[in-house]
Amino acid sequence: MEDGRVDQAARIVVIGAGQAGFSACVKLRALGHTGSITLIGDESHPPYQRPPLSKGLLLGETTEERLYFRPLSFYAEKGIELRLSSTVQAIERSARKVRLADGSEVAYDRLLLATGARPRVLPAEIGGELGGVFHVRNLVDINSMANRFREGQRVLIIGGGYIGLEAAAVSSKLGLQVTLVEASDRILQRVASPETSQFFRELHASHNVTVLEETGIRRLMGEDGHVRAAELSDGSVRPVDFVIVGIGVHPNAELARDAGIEVDNGIVVDADCRTSDPDVFAAGDCASFPWKAGRIRLESVGNAIDQGEAAAKAMLGESAGYLAKPWFWSDQFDVKLQIAGLSTGYDRVATRHGAGNAVSYWYYRGDELLAVDAMNDSRVYMAAKRLIEAGKSPPPHVIADTTVDLKSLL
Ligand code: FAD
Repeated sequence: MEDGRVDQAARIVVIGAGQAGFSACVKLRALGHTGSITLIGDESHPPYQRPPLSKGLLLGETTEERLYFRPLSFYAEKGIELRLSSTVQAIERSARKVRLADGSEVAYDRLLLATGARPRVLPAEIGGELGGVFHVRNLVDINSMANRFREGQRVLIIGGGYIGLEAAAVSSKLGLQVTLVEASDRILQRVASPETSQFFRELHASHNVTVLEETGIRRLMGEDGHVRAAELSDGSVRPVDFVIVGIGVHPNAELARDAGIEVDNGIVVDADCRTSDPDVFAAGDCASFPWKAGRIRLESVGNAIDQGEAAAKAMLGESAGYLAKPWFWSDQFDVKLQIAGLSTGYDRVATRHGAGNAVSYWYYRGDELLAVDAMNDSRVYMAAKRLIEAGKSPPPHVIADTTVDLKSLL
């Protein structure tokens, strides 16, 4: 339409039935879109939450069905055509349609790419394809490893990021013998301060998880196609019953790249979630968007929801002006970690102690407060989030002073 608003009857197609794709579809209907919405996902389950996959699901604290955002009937009620077990193979931009693996085609006026990310894998040459080597991304992954979580089993976890540490905590709680190896000099090196790494190192040690830092994998060794042992970078060999690989993800950006859409560590979008093709948008783990002076790609639920909703707005011709407000959480043993902001580029850290084992680490660059890691301290997390979002930076000595009420700083 000439005024920039999109015809309410426009055909909208969303590729990827995960957090961002789901959020976008719901928002489109909430904004009054009356045209067709087709949500295409290659998994067989209705859209579901991923965080419990490495937390409560294996512990039996929740069930598969409780992870679904909505029952199947919801999609019919909202007039959202949900096509599950359907992989989009190509985007034909000139004809404005997508081609599916079953040969069918779906035409669009606006297209949203919400294809997420997939785990990085160990190369086959070092045993990455042996049986008993698992990743943690979707329900199929969890279901394929669930019967391994038996007391006394020896699990090797490769990668000391949040997914690896959560998998280690779950394994330990279920009585497995857990070894976690991290190639860099400390766990959480990429995302957190030495203080936070130390906190989680001690937590895991106190639950008998063996954490080996500066330790990589030379190769996994198998018998009859099944992993049996791991040779570590120090030359030692450890017998294992199974392995969980948590070494980061790749954005699913190939579909966009093959269609000639700009890709650079994810699908490049502007603040309106628009790609280099004005009719194609992207959101969630797959999208690289403007952040401060550069670009960023976030892998978090909060971003997938907010950016999915921003994309919905933008697809209807409204300005979305997406400004990420990063937040994240992780559950390990009895610790709830909540993170506000992004610590990238920090040069110092202030510590604030709370009651019991509650503690928070505050990241600064110069005088600017960038981010906070709060362990078992939701009140501190909430205050920190509000301070960061308001652009306020109380000095580190004020933060460290526990007689100061954080609310008075807001
Ligand atoms: P996804 O949820 O990955 O959805 C993308 C979907 O697109 C997938 O179903 C994929 O199969 C599908 N797809 C891809 N290509 C195609 C195609 N060509 N055709 C059809 N379908 C396709 N975040 C937090 O904030 N806190 C946490 O504690 C936390 N814990 C996590 C624990 C685990 C185990 C995992 C895996 C993630 C966790 N995250 C957490 C991250 C969070 O879940 C993701 O950031 C979020 O799910 C991203 O949503 P998305 O829609 O961008 O991608």
